[in-house]
Amino acid sequence: MKAVQIVKPEQLEIIEVEKPVLDTKNNVLVKMTAAGICGSDVGIYHGTNAAATYPRIIGHEMVGVVAEIGSDVTHVKVGDRVIVNQVTSCGTCYPCRKNRGNVCDHLAARGVHIDGGFREFIAVSESDCYILPDSISDQDAVMIEPTTIAIQSCSRAGLEQDDMLLLYGAGALGSSILRIARQMCDHIIVADIMDDKLEEAKAAGAKYTINTAKENFLEKVLEYTHGRGATVSIDAACVKDSLLNLLKATGNAGRVVTMGFSTAPTVVNQFLITSKELEVRGSRLQNKMFGKAIELIKAGKLDLSGSISHTYPLIKAQEAFDFIDSKDPSIRKIVLTFDF
Ligand code: MN
Repeated sequence: MKAVQIVKPEQLEIIEVEKPVLDTKNNVLVKMTAAGICGSDVGIYHGTNAAATYPRIIGHEMVGVVAEIGSDVTHVKVGDRVIVNQVTSCGTCYPCRKNRGNVCDHLAARGVHIDGGFREFIAVSESDCYILPDSISDQDAVMIEPTTIAIQSCSRAGLEQDDMLLLYGAGALGSSILRIARQMCDHIIVADIMDDKLEEAKAAGAKYTINTAKENFLEKVLEYTHGRGATVSIDAACVKDSLLNLLKATGNAGRVVTMGFSTAPTVVNQFLITSKELEVRGSRLQNKMFGKAIELIKAGKLDLSGSISHTYPLIKAQEAFDFIDSKDPSIRKIVLTFDF
């Protein structure tokens, strides 16, 4: 079968690999039907993802159909359409015992630390398969994975109805978070440097927007929060000054959620955190959020259609990655397909 492997940074190859065989741990064989390309896949391709190891079959937004099951499998059957969990954890370490397997001491994320879903078949445990509702297409269903990341960040933020949320960044990550946050609170400020992204955020339910390239960020946050600052801030921009800006823009007793993976030092000061008793919390991957995302879809509260802008067959992955590098403004989510 064919797979997309990043041999080393900047070297993408379509390779021929053995079709996986089922064992006791990986007891469900999924035939892939759609796989989303994420910014982090592009980072692994370009060698800017500090977590990744090489060579790697990338891809963690994995949708397919169950092709074969082991004898002990009970909750999925051949023919079920599923999305596959990207997080694998040991189940016994300290974070796992605290029910936080997404930061397992032995974490292995598919497509990052172990091989992922840009291949025709993948074998996974049945507990990593989430059955899709009929109402969503395979291609749209790849958006469930980014949605789980958004649910995780809102969960880590402890977002509640009376919060005044400051969402920093209105790109792919920010817009996913906005869609989830909108279900929990009304008072949402979105900041970005792109006017068109801010307009989209407004249309998606942001109450206020700030163009940080043109407006005074702190003044505007204070204006939109009755002079007190945000109660919760989420960094979906993950740029050099994000954290400092959010520590400043968040009011007393607030929470600040980081999502960036940059290892570059950033200057902050303790006074901002201590004097306001801020809680700075990281949000990584997601912790068993697929079920929640699927429940929202089933309840008609989450519509993931309209996000896919382009599709490419798996064997043309290089073309897809080159197109992403072109930064064409028409690009939203690009999906690899498996009928070739
Ligand atoms: Mn992703």
